[in-house]
Order: sequence, then structure tokens, then C-alpha cells
Amino acid sequence: MGSKRLKAVVARGTHEVAIADKVSAQKIIVEYIRSLKVVGPNGMSPMQKQQKYGTSFSTFGAAHSGDAPVKKLGRRRCRGFFRTVPGSIMTFFCPKWIKVTVGWHCPIRCKAILKIGDGEYKYAAGSHRPEYEAATAFGALCLNNNAEAIIMANDICNRAGIDTISSGAIIAFAIELYENGILTNKDTDGIELKWGNHQAMVAMTAKLANREGIGDVLANGVKRAAEIIGKGSDQFAIHIGGQEVAMHDPKVLGTGRLASPAARYHMDCHPRTTYRALLARTVLSTTHFLNVTGLCHFGRWPEDEKLMTGIFKAVTGWDYSWADLQKTGERVVNMRHCFNLREGICELKWPVNPRLVGKPPQTTGPLAGVTADIEAQEYWGMGFLDWDRSTTKPSKAKLLSLGLDDVARDLYP
Ligand code: SF4
Repeated sequence: MGSKRLKAVVARGTHEVAIADKVSAQKIIVEYIRSLKVVGPNGMSPMQKQQKYGTSFSTFGAAHSGDAPVKKLGRRRCRGFFRTVPGSIMTFFCPKWIKVTVGWHCPIRCKAILKIGDGEYKYAAGSHRPEYEAATAFGALCLNNNAEAIIMANDICNRAGIDTISSGAIIAFAIELYENGILTNKDTDGIELKWGNHQAMVAMTAKLANREGIGDVLANGVKRAAEIIGKGSDQFAIHIGGQEVAMHDPKVLGTGRLASPAARYHMDCHPRTTYRALLARTVLSTTHFLNVTGLCHFGRWPEDEKLMTGIFKAVTGWDYSWADLQKTGERVVNMRHCFNLREGICELKWPVNPRLVGKPPQTTGPLAGVTADIEAQEYWGMGFLDWDRSTTKPSKAKLLSLGLDDVARDLYP
């Protein structure tokens, strides 16, 4: 889309969406909603939990388990941050609701919009409750535990139509440049960009959104901004192929284990994607199958084979087995990858900032001493996917087995 200067595709229709078997679809939906209302050991049903907290419920666990990239994966000297509870962010949002809101026809309704900001930050009524990624990007990543500031920064990004993961990561990058003397007050127009300075974080987010002053440079993303700023700033630029990474430390699963998701970031963009496949083919396939059907990941669909195959058949009329659905997901992974190869993009060639994989390892926190063995993960992963280990080309046999004969012809002329 970017290469075509395409911003969006909008589709509008006036006819009802046809459903092959309305009676079966309705029966499955009723059962599904009932399952979402079953109260779990924490005293809440999945539906209640998602409505009450949205994805922000995971901020506490992630900050303490090592999943959240606290202080931009630096984590040193932040004991005070943990004492002042990053996890309370999720509970802080609750009394601020006006109402829960919803994706189209979604029974879960895991979104909430908030009352007008009447404290230090005057965000407008109707601001959205920050989700996990935004709450962590403007929270733990910047060593900030001021929830009001997170709401404000999130709202600035939403109104400007810019991504909160990248925006928070860019602000954290700018903080690190400031802390290391690469950016000064002159560059920031007097904003003291220090770890945990929430006023500075919000002020710089506004500059970023409006492309004002240094915000105009930062708005290019950390890779390009580091090239413009120079002075060794590239060592602080954490990105994969120019994209800032999501709020999950890729070392989180343990020392050198193949299970660590570092390679996922290298070859994809966010956990739950291609390289989770290395552990479970099911997750690979269902994730990408969900993506192409438009089903929401928070709907717990992949946990239930019967539900997935049942609703698919009821809606489309196609009698696909679970294996067929998984094959569809694998086809997506391969087709997308071959598209990139054809366009001259090979993710394996993208450099990875050593800090992202724990080189050198952190010295404190749950991931102290951990280095992700990304080379081993990728070696193993390529074999699993039946992709060539140096070119990343899927084998001809793999493409043919997925019914991608035309792609195989392109790739193996
Ligand atoms: S579609 Fe998904 S993200 Fe949207 S409200 Fe429903 S559960 Fe939440």
C-alpha cells in the first residue's frame, strides 16, 4: 500500500451479507456466547474480564514477568518503578469509563471510552481506554506509571491517526538519546526528556503527532530518525526492517531456548505470528486463518476446533475440516512471504539490534542473563517451514502441496 501511496480501501454495501445456513450459525453463536459467560477461577467470565479491562489487564503481569520491555529493555535502576505499581494502570482506567464499546456486532465489547480528563491531563470525553500495547509503550517502556499521561498520549495518537506502538517506541528512543546527551534541551525546545517524566513524554508525543521541531525528525520512525540525527544514535534505535517492535520482550521464554520468540520479530512483526508456528503448527495456521476471515483474536476462536469449523461451514457453506482451515493459514504465510521475496524483501537480511536479543544480557529482572539464540531459532524455523535456510525461498514441493502452483512457477521459472 505504501509503495502505491494508498492510504486505505473502503468498501460499502447495502445488501445483507448472505449466510449459507442461518439456523446453524445462530445455534453456534448462542453456544459461543454462553461459553464466554462461564465464570472462571478468578471470579469473572472471559467476557466480563475483557469488558472491565480490555487488553490492559495484562499490563501488570507483563511488567513483572519480563514480557513488557521495561525502560526500553534496559530495566536497570527501576526498582522504584515496580514499587509504584505499573499494574495499577488497568484498574485506574475502570472508574474513568463512560461506556464499553464494540467492534461491529461483537458480543464481547472489550473497548471502553472514557470520561473527560479532569486531572492534570484534559483529554476530551470519548477518549479510548488504552489497550495493552499503548499502556506499555507509554508506560513501562518509558518508565512511566502515570496512567493519566498514558490516556493523554494514547488520545493524541488516536486523534492524529498514528500508531501507539511506534509512537511510544519513538518517544522512548528520544528519551534515551536525551539521557545520553545526543539530544539536548535545544533540540527538544526545553522539554526534559528523562525516564519517567510523564509531562515530557506527553509534550513530545504532541510534537511527534504535529511534526513540530524535533518531532518532525522523530516522526520518520527510529531508523530514519537515527540516520538524520547521527552521533551514534543508531545503537539506541530498536526496530526490525524500519518498524518499531511491539511490547513483548523477545527473550521472554528463557535462556537460549528455541522457544524464545526473537525470530518472530525478525521474520514477522508481532508475537502470535509466523514463528509461534515453530512451536505449534496449529497456532501458525489458525492465526493466519483468523486474519483472512476477519475474526478477532480476542474472541478465543482458535481454542475450539468444533466452533471454528462449525461457524465457517454455517456461514460459507463450505465443508472444511480443521486440517483444511490450517492449510489455508499456512498458505497465507507462504504466499505473503513469496510476495515479499518477489518485491526484493528478505527479512533475514534485516539487522537486529543486539539489545533486542539480550546481547549483552540484562543484569536485573526476570530476564537477567538471558540471550535469545536467534540463529538457532531461524535455522530450526526454516526447516520446519520447508524454506531454504539462506534464501528463505519455500521449497517447490511445499508450494505445490499448498496448491500454490502459480507461485511455484514464479519462484522456480
Ligand atoms: S471485535 Fe475483538 S477487539 Fe473488537 S470489541 Fe470484539 S473482542 Fe474486542
